[in-house]
Amino acid sequence: MSKAFASQADLQDKKVSFTKLSDNAYAYTAEGDPNTGVIVGDNAVMVLDTQATPVMAGDVIRHIRTVTDLPIRYVLLSHYHAVRVLGASAYQPQEIIASQDTYDLIVERGAQDMKSEIERFPRLFRAVETIPGLTWPTMTFKGEMTLWLGKLEVKLMQLGRGHTKGDTVAWLPQQKILFSGDLVEFDATPYAGDAYFKDWPKTLDNIAALQPVALVPGRGAALTSPEMVQRGLAGTRAFVSDLYAAVQAGAKQGKPLRDIYQDAHASLKPKYGQWVIFDHCMPFDVTRALDEATEHPDPRIWTAERDIEMWKALES
Ligand SMILES: [Zn+2]
Repeated sequence: MSKAFASQADLQDKKVSFTKLSDNAYAYTAEGDPNTGVIVGDNAVMVLDTQATPVMAGDVIRHIRTVTDLPIRYVLLSHYHAVRVLGASAYQPQEIIASQDTYDLIVERGAQDMKSEIERFPRLFRAVETIPGLTWPTMTFKGEMTLWLGKLEVKLMQLGRGHTKGDTVAWLPQQKILFSGDLVEFDATPYAGDAYFKDWPKTLDNIAALQPVALVPGRGAALTSPEMVQRGLAGTRAFVSDLYAAVQAGAKQGKPLRDIYQDAHASLKPKYGQWVIFDHCMPFDVTRALDEATEHPDPRIWTAERDIEMWKALES
């Protein structure tokens, strides 16, 4: 393989920021590594995505304890990916909440995803041996649910498919602050190996319709003004649309995956190549896009073996 597989060569630790968006909303970010959101209510704390391991979640807890002593009662899983969910046990939450669609994906492919993600990106699984196993939601919902943390209203909503089938956002309607999970990225390449390319732009429209004044993306800095939110939404939408259009064009000409990949990589690199994990994501994203444009409306399960086979086919 000419390029190291996925992010196996990415070993440089990132600098953590803990950004205050309001008295109730914080963002734990790390220069493009997966983010964790924090909602501080009147009587309890909610964590949005957990970090990849309990040891890494411990650093989030240390940051939370600089702003509140309230109990961390709820963990929301924005979607099923290992790097988002496997640190959950560190918070000892009363409830782990996810959409029913996310729960179903954990049943169907959680174990394969865990193995595959750990091999793709070892640095993101610091102290991997502390993971006790899959994270199972204790509470699921369909469409929408509301929690009241005292007087603070927290809406959990499925606004459509995009990054995965189960994508859930958290919304503070009183403050117009949104936690998007990987539906929105900023200066970071959207991973779309399990995505729904045709639906994703519509889901972004649904987010935009809420008119958030601040947004915590899945990766990248917290977006702390309406203008920055617009930039985050526009950048994510452009990448998803450009990639799918490039792949559809190649598919129409009957080109093989390897050629479609090389064309898409060349045409997207000038615009998006500076975003973190561009070279990691592209082979997975193009493979999924061609599946969706042809005969696989739903994402096929990635296994550690399928990962390597695909990488060799496209990058050797
Ligand atoms: Zn994800």
